[in-house]
Amino acid sequence: MKISVLGSGSSGNCVFLETGRTRVLVDAGFGIRSLRRRCREAGISIEEFDAILVTHGHSDHIAGIPSLLKSSSAVLFMNEGTREEAYKLRGIERQELFCSGQPFSIGDLSVEAFPTPHDAAESVGFKFSAEGISGALATDLGEITPTVLKQLEQCDWLVLESNHDEELLKVGPYPWDLKRRVLGPTGHLSNRALAEFISRDFDGRAAHLFLAHLSRKNNDPELALASANTAVEQRPTTNGYHPLQVHLTYQNNPSIVLDL
Ligand SMILES: [Zn+2]
Ligand SMILES: [Zn+2]
Repeated sequence: MKISVLGSGSSGNCVFLETGRTRVLVDAGFGIRSLRRRCREAGISIEEFDAILVTHGHSDHIAGIPSLLKSSSAVLFMNEGTREEAYKLRGIERQELFCSGQPFSIGDLSVEAFPTPHDAAESVGFKFSAEGISGALATDLGEITPTVLKQLEQCDWLVLESNHDEELLKVGPYPWDLKRRVLGPTGHLSNRALAEFISRDFDGRAAHLFLAHLSRKNNDPELALASANTAVEQRPTTNGYHPLQVHLTYQNNPSIVLDL
């Protein structure tokens, strides 16, 4: 399975996932030209892809979808809440609805959506499995709920939000009501909350973690990376599992491509 975060942040999100027979994108917050450039830089091809899966209807996750699907036969997968909220996506012909907790397949890729606490209708994360490899993606969530935590178990790779440093956010340029929204239980996950997950709740199975949806104004990549790596060091010894490798993701460029 190949995974690359082609772009991540409040100006556009897209994750690429490939198995032996299937290629999908999770979200598409930017258009076809930007996507093609990122794929070139990552050394991957999306000339033919099977599906776009949508986490939620905020524009940084869906803005590029109508233009992408114009020149493709890929199917759009979303849930009813997103369809209701994202009127831009309603007119797209090839679409299928999924429900949280009901697994479905796209080619040889098994997918299960799970609810995330975020201020969008029916926002979700995804768990994927194929070829004996499993992974999960959860960004845009105010906290890691027990439901989310369950889905992060028994994964080989994780894409998780590390949105902001709480101190930088508090002294930063956002108006107070927006600060409160980001910090709240349906906002975005902080570096500290992610570090708590790594040091306390992570089951130790995954060998790779992508830090996603970093805020440009309220975070610093080095700070997010240091926070996660300190948490990795604080974990109890890892009973034969690989140590967790932490990878950054970027707003304007693709991350590394994992090939597991
Ligand atoms: Zn977002
Ligand atoms: Zn969002």
